[in-house]
Amino acid sequence: EYAVKKTYDVIVVGSGAGAFVAAIRAASQGASVIMLEKQATYGGTSARSGGGLWVPNNRNIGSVGVTDSDEDAYQYMRKVIPEDQVSDDTIRNYIATAPKMLDFLSSETLVNYVPVPGYADYYPSYPGWKEGGRTMDPMPIDGRPLGDLLYKMEETPKQSRAMGIFGMSIVEGSQILATTPGWQKIVAGIFARYLLDIGGRLRGMRDRRLCQGNALIGGLLMAARKHGVELVLETGVNGLIKEGDRVVGVRAHSAKHGDIELRAERGVVAAAGGFENNPQMRGDYLPGPTDTDWSAAIPGNTGDLIRAGQEIGAATGLMNEAWWAPVVKNGDTSVVLFSEKSKPGLIVVDKQGRRFMNEAITYNSYGECFYNARKAGYDCVPAYMIFDGNYRKKYFFGGIVQSSMSPDFMNRSAFGPDGMLIKAGSLDELADKLGVDKAGLRDTTSKMAEYARTGVDEEFGRGSDAHDRMYGDVEVTPNPCLGPLDEAPFYGAPIYPGDIGTKGGLVIDHDGRVQDEQGNAIEGLYAAGNCTASIMGDKYPGAGCTLGPAMSIAFRAADHMMAEA
Ligand code: FAD
Repeated sequence: EYAVKKTYDVIVVGSGAGAFVAAIRAASQGASVIMLEKQATYGGTSARSGGGLWVPNNRNIGSVGVTDSDEDAYQYMRKVIPEDQVSDDTIRNYIATAPKMLDFLSSETLVNYVPVPGYADYYPSYPGWKEGGRTMDPMPIDGRPLGDLLYKMEETPKQSRAMGIFGMSIVEGSQILATTPGWQKIVAGIFARYLLDIGGRLRGMRDRRLCQGNALIGGLLMAARKHGVELVLETGVNGLIKEGDRVVGVRAHSAKHGDIELRAERGVVAAAGGFENNPQMRGDYLPGPTDTDWSAAIPGNTGDLIRAGQEIGAATGLMNEAWWAPVVKNGDTSVVLFSEKSKPGLIVVDKQGRRFMNEAITYNSYGECFYNARKAGYDCVPAYMIFDGNYRKKYFFGGIVQSSMSPDFMNRSAFGPDGMLIKAGSLDELADKLGVDKAGLRDTTSKMAEYARTGVDEEFGRGSDAHDRMYGDVEVTPNPCLGPLDEAPFYGAPIYPGDIGTKGGLVIDHDGRVQDEQGNAIEGLYAAGNCTASIMGDKYPGAGCTLGPAMSIAFRAADHMMAEA
């Protein structure tokens, strides 16, 4: 219960990972904090995510046999991120802050991050690149202490759960998918814990062993409660209150109380996500064609706080950018393909059946590749991802386990009228079903058979660097990313230049202070996460580069507002 007009030290808008870090950090220094969440569920896209954080030179990186330094991290980030988008200082600030934020998580929450071995940065030929360890994975945590609140957290998508049901960490998931020795033991452990949670089973299917983004948000919520942070759901902020030069509060609509006004003595933190689900803003800012349907972000992210900031004179940047990713549709669900694209036996073609890109490139580069190819005359939105029976037998695709373990009849919904995949007995038949040019597709697959034989993709260089090969199949030679499409049946799906979040928004400084059009900080207003212009520019240096900055900036924002006299 809260009064319609009430004053707090800090108001946080949103309930993703950045929002929680700002709230807990401020509350741990004695602030009264309220978090306002528009949806009936909390956690945002952060809860749906892998929960991975990219933390260069983190304290535990040595445990996976990698040596790192602030200077290596700087060299790498500086080379990846364009200088006209992000300053040296911003990069150095991130490198200095992220490990401190992680220390804070370790001391104040149950969330425990470990470096992921072999999870390489995304630009292998660049100085300062590391073969693993900068991407960190949250260890699973027991969600039972959350009681009923657990069921109001955004759920981990089916594709990120074992058999679509059981929680698994990124490390567990990669061992299961790659069937590395001991994977059966991991599955048995996950399954046994699930069955033995009698209280959970009586309540339904949801696994109370929280993993990935659910582990992160679950752990943060527990800490927030410990520090007395109030989290109020179904309360959407629709305006910022500015008096003189200072933001002093927010206007919101609460499902329970109607229109309300809340005041903040120290500051308002906008951590309300991007504009993924605002068709108007997508149309105005992102390259076209684009569609809210191609985003894997939660429905509540409609750019409200970007708009509210603009209304009081805040500057915005990078509005034409997103954290791009190839997406296939399974009914209403946008399924993100993070790793499937690199395995041998799969190609991406346009309507004429022509390849137009290196399929194994980082998922973030899919946006640039698709829209550039479209400008160059390819009919590629949607494009078509096509693979053969051998691929299906061996590799996981969009949440469906490989057919050697989970044959097609066990995945009927994926092949149904609203399903993700179309299946055919021959490539010609598949081309007809997808509406792709048959002759073009035949020509492309015969070229691919030749590239697979020689190990050299003469058109796009697929499998020629460590990033591509990381997701390839080590057992396939001479190139772990190239294979012929020659075994029936054949499978295909339309794929779209989708996203896991937009990354343009309010321009901020190192402390997350929102800047006005003249480059001055707007007093009392802070922002973090996808409602800001990303400090990674239009690039994605490594997995965890969206949550890492969201949480690190939020951490600094809380310190800044608490230090103000
Ligand atoms: P969110 O986490 O979406 O939080 C924003 C919240 O604000 C939402 O709950 C929303 O409802 C609320 N809100 C919106 N408007 C209002 C309003 N007006 N008033 C009140 N509340 C409002 N990134 C990584 O770094 N590592 C990963 O491992 C990773 N894995 C991913 C896996 C998947 C399948 C997906 C889809 C994404 C993944 N991402 C990952 C991307 C990452 O999840 C997002 O970029 C990140 O969660 C964005 O955080 P945020 O705080 O900006 O937004």
